[in-house]
Amino acid sequence: MAAATPLYDTYARAPLRFERGEGVWLIAEDGTRYLDFAAGVAVNSLGHAHPHLVSALKEQAEKVWHLSNLYEVPGQESLSRRLTEATFADKVFFTNSGAEALECAIKTARRYHFAKGQPEKFHIITFEGAFHGRTLATIAAGGQAKYLEGFGPKAPGFYQVPFDDMAALKAAITEETAAILIEPIQGEGGIRTVSKEFLQELRALCDEYGLLLVLDEVQSGVGRTGKLFAHEWAGITPDIMAVAKGIGGGFPLGACLATEDAASGMIAGTHGSTYGGNPLAMAVGNAVLDVILADDFLQHVRDVSLVFRQGLASLADRFPDVIEEIRGEGLMLGIKAKVPSTDLLKAIRAEKLLAVPAGENVIRLLPPLVTTAEEAREGLARLERAAEQLTVERRQASA
Ligand SMILES: *Cc1c(COP(=O)(O)O)cnc(C)c1O
Repeated sequence: MAAATPLYDTYARAPLRFERGEGVWLIAEDGTRYLDFAAGVAVNSLGHAHPHLVSALKEQAEKVWHLSNLYEVPGQESLSRRLTEATFADKVFFTNSGAEALECAIKTARRYHFAKGQPEKFHIITFEGAFHGRTLATIAAGGQAKYLEGFGPKAPGFYQVPFDDMAALKAAITEETAAILIEPIQGEGGIRTVSKEFLQELRALCDEYGLLLVLDEVQSGVGRTGKLFAHEWAGITPDIMAVAKGIGGGFPLGACLATEDAASGMIAGTHGSTYGGNPLAMAVGNAVLDVILADDFLQHVRDVSLVFRQGLASLADRFPDVIEEIRGEGLMLGIKAKVPSTDLLKAIRAEKLLAVPAGENVIRLLPPLVTTAEEAREGLARLERAAEQLTVERRQASA
């Protein structure tokens, strides 16, 4: 029987149909051009159809698509070497998504204590407002009731404490605690930045109690905040880190990074993935790093971020009935709305600007990292027109 749509009804999709993309632009079937500051939810880090990524994918597609992990894959070796040289990590496991990178991170943390003769240490502390994915373990880690409801018992071993509450965190640590898992900036939770000091205290706490610090940089990583990874702003390093989204630039790719010690329990046979580290994904991941690790690229991200910050601050001043607050770092920005955030999203979409909803009545601006200052100003002009329109509508409604 044909339903209205044979697709699962899990998404409330906007009635927009895009045919192709060019840099920061998405072009709809009817030819309308949209400025894409959603970037596939922080995935299209280099925009759409970046020539270097297109040629890397085409070139690999003509050689070999898939090999499995029964053989050595040269692209895995080069990408893992580049990731470890650029970060705290010594070891890398490749996945296809963020949730799978988190699953690997959780398993790595538990297995670490198991291998050290402490199998009872498997509890992981997370934070309210967190989002770590949609698998059974990652919805338990995220702890959000709306994602847990109806899916059977919550996977055991996850304990949640309030955001930015050191006393509650300390009180939650027990003999069974294995790790602390945190996003340096909560994305879906509403662009809530964890302070440098809090991250530094977390590092010290983990060292004191022999816990592993696990960072979820699926959204905040790979240049998004103007550093290769957001934790670098705090001058700390984790033991384990989940990466995805931007690293594949639109190709499904994730990775779990760890120090040699933290990964010491993950011996042959303990974990695996059919597609993880697939040659197509490796070719694209390497091509993404060619661009992001090039001299001055992260400086470009920081420079364009400044254009956004100044423009957004000015809009917040001029439209206090529409904008309550500006949040975030680099090109991971949030506008906390005074009006319902869905109204603001609708108003900017009418101006042909795309953004992403988030918790706490925030809309996220996650423009491609290649956005120029001129494109940033174009986006700000569209936001301004949307804010003007909303202000007019509010005045009319209250008149
Ligand atoms: C998107 C996201 C995930 C989940 O990634 P998927 O690829 O959708 O599985 C996990 N953590 C954070 C912080 C994310 O933004």
